[in-house]
Amino acid sequence: MNITIEEYHNELTSFLSFLDTEKKKCFGIQMNQDADDCVDFAPFLRHTINNLGDPFLGKGGHLQTFKYERKLVGIMANLLHLNPMEAWGYYTSGSSISNLQAIHLAVEKLGSNVTLVTSKDAHNSICKAGSITRVKAFKEIETTGNGELCADALRDFLQTTEKNQRFIFCFCSGTVSKGAYDPVKTLIKIIQECGIRSENYYLHLDAALGGMITPFLSNPSLHLDFSIPEVDSLSVSFHKRLGIPVPGSLFLIRKSSFNFASSTPFVEDYRSLDTTIAGSRDGITPFITLMKLRKLGFKELVSRTQKAIEKATWLAKELRQLGITTIHNDHSPCVYFEAPSEAIIKEYHLPLYEQKDGSRFTHIFTMEHVSIEGLKCFLESAGFRTEVLKRIS
Ligand SMILES: *Cc1c(COP(=O)(O)O)cnc(C)c1O
Repeated sequence: MNITIEEYHNELTSFLSFLDTEKKKCFGIQMNQDADDCVDFAPFLRHTINNLGDPFLGKGGHLQTFKYERKLVGIMANLLHLNPMEAWGYYTSGSSISNLQAIHLAVEKLGSNVTLVTSKDAHNSICKAGSITRVKAFKEIETTGNGELCADALRDFLQTTEKNQRFIFCFCSGTVSKGAYDPVKTLIKIIQECGIRSENYYLHLDAALGGMITPFLSNPSLHLDFSIPEVDSLSVSFHKRLGIPVPGSLFLIRKSSFNFASSTPFVEDYRSLDTTIAGSRDGITPFITLMKLRKLGFKELVSRTQKAIEKATWLAKELRQLGITTIHNDHSPCVYFEAPSEAIIKEYHLPLYEQKDGSRFTHIFTMEHVSIEGLKCFLESAGFRTEVLKRIS
């Protein structure tokens, strides 16, 4: 396993140069690679910072950033229309864990004799969380062509179920493949019309992407957050929109939605209720996230959000003009379209979605590091023009 000090430095240099080159072409998967300013935090790598346990109850006794983590909970609660006094939450290693935390609490509250209901386009972590927590049943509802949960299909399903059954609903603000926003208010109306009483369901909003978009829309028509009183909890990721070096997410819950005191054991090791899934947690990333969020500020995030969406709107228009089948949801930085060649998929780090009918699709998220120049290069090298000409002739 040993290497010489020279080999060590060579590996560091060559891997860094690989990353510097490749990141300019990371167009797929919702991640903002604009994290250059985070070198400010390099000196903190000299310390092992571990946010062990609950940030509100934990006593520490070791190096931690609970104070900053709590501040982040407060700021995000505010942005997502939850009174910080009514909010509990903590920083996780990604929205998969935030989603697991939500479903874990829902099962603690309602029992495992529940049906977990989500959409066909939901993130894989939802189904996995249902399996880890052993929910009795799992139901994926059809989506519409643009990727949002189909309201009629939800009504059809709920009408076939027993009235007193219990449900965990997981809806999405910004789906993984198409960046779609589920029509949450309409869906709640359907739940109520189908006679499901509020004590018989838990509602989690997976806003891994949308939670850092909807608060910054210049025309805030899309309130997919705690302004909807039925939303119990929410996940929001930071590596997707903010630009931070380590993936991270916040799990946020209305305090009134769960009684921790009655069902959570106390851990003597770190003198805290055992509210978090992980024991040891990353302490540096919540600090980086908070400081970067505050440095950018609200106005800058509004402007960045607008630019990202404008680039997506531009790209969708270009693709459609080339005759490429394209889906672009309003308020979304995601453009979903017919996939180019395997080589281009690989070069631009794009995912591949293969449909049952054999058609192939991919997506681009127009985050900060994806420039219009870069997109023009992509369109050129993707050879869409020649594809279209071939099809016509
Ligand atoms: C990315 C994403 C997740 C999972 O987040 P990770 O940080 O990758 O664990 C969950 N849901 C949605 C909608 C996502 O976009």
